[in-house]
Amino acid sequence: MSFYASIITLFPDLFPGPLGASVIGRGLENGAWSLETRFLRDYASDKHRTVDDTPSGGGAGMVLRADILAAAIDDTAAQDDPRPKILMSPRGTPLTQKRVRELAAGPGAVIVCGRFEGVDQRVIEARDLEEISIGDYVLAGGEVAAMVLLEAVVRLLPGVLGAEESHADESFEDGLLEYPQFTRPQVFEGREIPPVLISGDHGRVEKWRREQAQALTQDRRPDLWAARKQKP
Ligand code: SAH
Repeated sequence: MSFYASIITLFPDLFPGPLGASVIGRGLENGAWSLETRFLRDYASDKHRTVDDTPSGGGAGMVLRADILAAAIDDTAAQDDPRPKILMSPRGTPLTQKRVRELAAGPGAVIVCGRFEGVDQRVIEARDLEEISIGDYVLAGGEVAAMVLLEAVVRLLPGVLGAEESHADESFEDGLLEYPQFTRPQVFEGREIPPVLISGDHGRVEKWRREQAQALTQDRRPDLWAARKQKP
């Protein structure tokens, strides 16, 4: 079974959206992964198909109801479904390449997209939802965040990127940002490709790239650099 993503959303028409393009979209077509959307409104019980209500304790906006979300989750994932259940949330654990790799090695994910002010806390606990954030800013809904997560995961699945686009060197894979890349022309507006890269000397190229990656990481991401040096 390939990676199977189920999305619970008020806006199913947004999918696959950008996930239908390029290598990610080809992977969807050729079965490297699969995607289903569940329309949250289908789980509402009144004739207006209401999914939200005003926040208890007062305040602006609306909150997605626990009972309706739980019904959608239960219908999407049976008791023995091994897939992690994720809620996209600005209060969640920040997404990292490490978690992306773990998800890519697993059976898939059930992803709940929040809207409005968010979701009733009780469904997060009752369905053991893993809250994941894509960064310290607030979006209008979880759909784009879910796409970000899925795009990062799917590109790691077997057969999605060609062999020439290996993951080993990429940013974060080694706790480092990637070294600078160059391609022809040899001279662009008076700027040359660093001579070492056209020397044909693999050892020197490797060394130069490693030094560049280290310097870049130290300079731009002291947090990553510090975390890396703490490793045994
Ligand atoms: N009132 C909430 C924000 C709600 S934004 C708060 O202050 O925490 C509406 C929905 O957008 C959220 O339920 C979540 O699903 C999604 N969302 C917003 N920002 C996000 C982020 N940084 N990462 C992941 N999902 C996010």
